[in-house]
Amino acid sequence: MRYISTRGAAPVLDFEQVTLAGLASDGGLYVPETWPSLSAGEIAGLRGLSYVDTAVAVMAPFVEGTLTREELRGLCAQAYGRFAHSAVTPLVQLDERHWLLELFHGPTLAFKDVALQLLGLLFERFLAGSDKHLTVVGATSGDTGSAAIDALAGRAGVDVFMLHPNGRVSDVQRRQMTTVLAPNIHNIAIDGSFDDAQALVKAMFNDPGFSGKFALSAVNSINWARLMAQVVYYFYAAVRLGAPECPVAFSVPTGNFGDVFAGYVAAKMGLPVAKLVVATNVNDILHRALSQGDYSQGVVVPTPSPSMDIQVSSNFERLLFDLGGRDGAATREQMRGFEATKAMRLTNAQRDGAATLFASDRIDLDDMALAMRWACEGSGQVIDPHSAIGLAAARRADLPADVPVVTLATAHPSKFREPVERATGVRPALPARIGDLFDREERYATLPGTFEAVTGYIAERAVAV
Ligand SMILES: *Cc1c(COP(=O)(O)O)cnc(C)c1O
Repeated sequence: MRYISTRGAAPVLDFEQVTLAGLASDGGLYVPETWPSLSAGEIAGLRGLSYVDTAVAVMAPFVEGTLTREELRGLCAQAYGRFAHSAVTPLVQLDERHWLLELFHGPTLAFKDVALQLLGLLFERFLAGSDKHLTVVGATSGDTGSAAIDALAGRAGVDVFMLHPNGRVSDVQRRQMTTVLAPNIHNIAIDGSFDDAQALVKAMFNDPGFSGKFALSAVNSINWARLMAQVVYYFYAAVRLGAPECPVAFSVPTGNFGDVFAGYVAAKMGLPVAKLVVATNVNDILHRALSQGDYSQGVVVPTPSPSMDIQVSSNFERLLFDLGGRDGAATREQMRGFEATKAMRLTNAQRDGAATLFASDRIDLDDMALAMRWACEGSGQVIDPHSAIGLAAARRADLPADVPVVTLATAHPSKFREPVERATGVRPALPARIGDLFDREERYATLPGTFEAVTGYIAERAVAV
């Protein structure tokens, strides 16, 4: 498979190159040159397969030319062997039509592990035997950082510099990052929001003076390999609920538009997806974009669902590119306009194209708490604030009554104990695999959110090319 940039001016890459690069050199994001497709018969053939076998069947076309099916199977078996549930991403029934897809059984308790455990192994494999040294720079609203750090701590040939917004991640999230003392892990708390941190990372990639000195790489969901790994669980869930004969709807708590874009890819590959519900918290740029065509950056409001406190959704560019006829020059112009004015309108073609598959909703604090209580009282499920936003949107969505609705449960409730306890009266216990998180030593730097401060810090510690 070959990969092209959404802005049309970066080199075409293969799977190995696209995995190591992350962001495209023209400021765009990589997407496959064509969408592979699975026939109805091939989708039916996924029924009853293990998670690992499903993963191989779904991802094989994307890695073709770089990994054999057997190599891919070996990596998936290793990555998903670290999950605490033998189904990897089990489905839990809430009532006759609502289901939860639990994506949080990995080492750091959030769905990011599904992709990052695999990405860590891909990095290791692609770097083995080369003298290349990668400098991973990332921005995290909490969960990407912990999952990336778990996946990359102690691995040869890679340093990780992870920026998080100071004071705006939960205690569990921060400790999962800052108590990893491996010498290749560097945590940086910056003054500012997640969007500020993400903008700094983008600026580092786009600054030739800085990016030319290091082999920079990204683990945010701008990295194609992450999205690819997330396509798998849409297939895994849907075939268990009647696909390909019966369509299935998904409700996805959304921030950077990565997880829900993976659902779009699944639909492009032939999975019968009735609807993808894009569920936002009050940081609702995606809801405004999809319902009114208004993609304009608001001010980030901190909420109990910090992994969705985002007002610039990087992966949305991938959708705009695909819906706009895959015209790189047009996407470049549209995104430059957004970067200059912090606002843009979707074209009619983009709005109409999105409306066929996507619905959207904005969930406030009361509705989030109500959804947590409904799940707890109706079916004994204690869910986290992000999952609750997905569930609230799922229950409000206008969908045919005979279509099963799967809400992606993106984090373990113990990662966000305070809001869960406030809503339900239940204080979720940390699972045993987290161990003595609250007794471990923490280590991180605190820096102003300026380009000079952060790049200065990294340049002193990273390995130059
Ligand atoms: C990252 C994250 C999200 C948002 O996912 P995107 O791919 O950024 O849309 C939702 N919930 C949790 C718990 C997360 O960690």
